[in-house]
Amino acid sequence: MRFSICSLFSGSSGNCTYVGSEDTHILVDCGCTGKKVMQSLDQIGMDSKAIDAILITHEHTDHIQGAGVLSRKLNVPIYANEDTWNAMRDKVGKIDEKNIRIFSNDMDFYIKDINIEPYQIPHDAANPVGFCLYCGNKKISITTDLGYTNNKIINKIMDSDLVVLESNHDIDMLKAGPYPFVLKRRILGKKGHLSNTDAGKAITELINGKVTHVLLGHLSRQNNLPELAYQTVVEILTSNGIKPGSDLVIDMTYRDQVGNFYHLGA
Ligand SMILES: [Zn+2]
Ligand SMILES: [Zn+2]
Repeated sequence: MRFSICSLFSGSSGNCTYVGSEDTHILVDCGCTGKKVMQSLDQIGMDSKAIDAILITHEHTDHIQGAGVLSRKLNVPIYANEDTWNAMRDKVGKIDEKNIRIFSNDMDFYIKDINIEPYQIPHDAANPVGFCLYCGNKKISITTDLGYTNNKIINKIMDSDLVVLESNHDIDMLKAGPYPFVLKRRILGKKGHLSNTDAGKAITELINGKVTHVLLGHLSRQNNLPELAYQTVVEILTSNGIKPGSDLVIDMTYRDQVGNFYHLGA
């Protein structure tokens, strides 16, 4: 059994993560052009024709931009909850009826041998979710675009082997940066995005679970730097007696290049 994950794009400019087993190949979000997503799949040695499904967390453009194009081109179903479908229907173009799949947030479902469990997250979209994905005895959780974490979310993801966690902004860079006040308030708000500090604190809670790898994701182009996100998280972990590298691995995802390809249970 092999359960793999690779971030193709991650950031405020577009998000798409490949998750797959030997038999099943899924994209979580598809927020770049279809062409770019296909090029990235090619780069990691994945045949785009093998993609079985596109899962959508929420309807923001940086998560759905290429979903319609890829669904039409590859005849792939798009899975989203009903509120998200209603909010994105006009943005993804005409989708073949059989490729419109609606899930309920409180019910898990299967795509071939991968079990998927959506869960609600606090973000300013119609009905945003994160996903826990299970294959064999391995679990991957994807948790980006959320204003804060709470016990429910931490409990949901802490028995994962690998977590993709948002580390969107450096609070000082955001406050001093060029964004208008309203947008700054939105990002910092309860339905905005997790800061580097929030991510670091959340990881100190995950350490009590099974998590061995955390990939920092959805970094802001304007209000963050990969080195700063990494350094902030590492400092918080270290000051809590956690040794990054031996207690758990912290790795980055990138806005414009594929990240490391992880194979769990290989
Ligand atoms: Zn986003
Ligand atoms: Zn969003």
